[in-house]
Amino acid sequence: MNTTTSELETLLMQRSLTDAQLLAAAEAAPDFRILPDATVIKIGGQSVIDRGRAALYPLVEEIVAVRKNHKLLIGTGAGTRARHLYSIAAGLNLPAGVLSQLGASVADQNAAMLGQLLAKHGISQVEGAGLSAVPLYLAEVNAVVFSGMPPYGLWMRPAADGVIPPYRTDAGCFLLAEQFGCKAMIFVKDEDGLFTANPKTSTDAKFIPKISVDEMMARGLHDSILEFPMLDLLKAARHVREVQVVNGLVPGNLTRALAGEHVGTIITAS
Ligand code: ADP
Ligand code: MG
Repeated sequence: MNTTTSELETLLMQRSLTDAQLLAAAEAAPDFRILPDATVIKIGGQSVIDRGRAALYPLVEEIVAVRKNHKLLIGTGAGTRARHLYSIAAGLNLPAGVLSQLGASVADQNAAMLGQLLAKHGISQVEGAGLSAVPLYLAEVNAVVFSGMPPYGLWMRPAADGVIPPYRTDAGCFLLAEQFGCKAMIFVKDEDGLFTANPKTSTDAKFIPKISVDEMMARGLHDSILEFPMLDLLKAARHVREVQVVNGLVPGNLTRALAGEHVGTIITAS
């Protein structure tokens, strides 16, 4: 379809903004990616950052080396401190939007710490990664650190059941990668990838090297290594059609994943 801007404008003036013909016309514009050369990596909160020095020092070394060849947007998870806050706030029956603000403060703390570790290498922590000076940092030093919680805050869409914010740092980092049209999205956690069951509690769990969103749902694995709303976000994505989950406790895995190697579990949109 080759809809001109004036046709689209006419539709926009006359139709509902969710009208099927209008949506099709709006889709007709050619693909555009804002940061096509960058990769988003999420450093897990509970799985990595909470382990402190033993997990973080080697990863920092790896990041510093690998950014010579890759542009990195480095997002942080929240983890155990956020879970502690959620338990207190949920016990007080505070709403999802308040829990979202509390969780964001912990992801901020982790971004602050990672930012300090990378400071001497010229890598800065940015407040709110929604662009501003991000392209300049990427052009100059190939990397920035950001806080992974999506900034919905009080406006977090509540889950159908319970007050735990459904969109947390897995979703926040993925949405950044997708909106910017980034090259890839890598989740750095503490397991080799997805297993048939949680390897922390099931000794006979089998590793799954590659799986689609639909297969994950069919096998009841939608609420496992990634936040479950991530699967819908990935399935509907235009740019980032697969993500890789890697074990960041194994030196070299992040570097290899950035080089396009298959070292963990690849989860595909279709
Ligand atoms: P993050 O630190 O990024 O928030 P999480 O701790 O939320 O990461 O998620 C990773 C954890 O998910 C793993 O440490 C593992 O214990 C757990 N997990 C649950 N089910 C699975 C599964 N089927 N395969 C792999 N990991 C799983
Ligand atoms: Mg998590």
